Amino acid sequence: MRIDVVTIFPEMFGEVLDTSIIGIARERGLVTVNCHDLRDWTHDRHRTTDDEPYGGGPGMVMKPEPLFEAVDALQAQDDEPATVVFFTPAGTPLNQAIAEQLSSRERLIMVCGRYEGFDERALSLADLQLSIGDYVLTGGELPAMVTIDAITRLLPGVLGDAASSEDESFSDGLLEYPQYTRPAEFRGMDVPEVLRSGDHGRIAAWRREQAVTRTAIVRPELLAHATLSDSEKAIVDGLFDADSEQEVPQR
Ligand code: SAM
Repeated sequence: MRIDVVTIFPEMFGEVLDTSIIGIARERGLVTVNCHDLRDWTHDRHRTTDDEPYGGGPGMVMKPEPLFEAVDALQAQDDEPATVVFFTPAGTPLNQAIAEQLSSRERLIMVCGRYEGFDERALSLADLQLSIGDYVLTGGELPAMVTIDAITRLLPGVLGDAASSEDESFSDGLLEYPQYTRPAEFRGMDVPEVLRSGDHGRIAAWRREQAVTRTAIVRPELLAHATLSDSEKAIVDGLFDADSEQEVPQR
């Protein structure tokens, strides 16, 4: 996969792209990430990428011309057309399903906003407008890094154990089950007996039940897209049964 990032702060990406899983994936040639300075597509002495908003108001707006030139130039570098992603708080919220879809593309161009965001006409370049959450950051660079991380770890051959991304939160519509490592007892807290039993069937059943219960408590809206057995539905109903005396456990 090839990812081109357009930003006025390409230097922000260095450590993130060199470290851990993304660094290894790049070393192995599984993903190439090129960070471009948007100012390279400006033509004035000050390399201007922003201007005042029409209609007045605070802040500056990203000019359309360099953005169009950048995306056009990067598209022209390869026969394979790239999917163009613009980051904006007004975009579609990033989730695991979108990360999976993006990880299957050959090429991505990611465009990072700054100031008060993009001239609306520049957004016509986007195949996808992405938000990483309902809060406002100062720029699209962190959203781009978050998205690159979420995508890269899904690329075939990137994670050592392929099952480790299949088993994670959201992969089956559920949050992940609780994980433990040694020691078996720590500060009065024991690792559940079932995980030390060596009984793989019981362990799988316990993990599944924990994932369903945790999801029902913490993120019940996710269950709308999860496939649950009848007994799992009963667990969920039990948690939310108004007449039930069962106390909903805290997180
Ligand atoms: N005025 C904009 C608004 O109210 O929606 C916010 C602009 S923000 C200060 C500058 C840039 O940061 C945006 O153009 C976008 O690229 C990026 N950004 C900020 N928050 C984001 C989020 N939650 N998701 C994705 N991108 C975000």
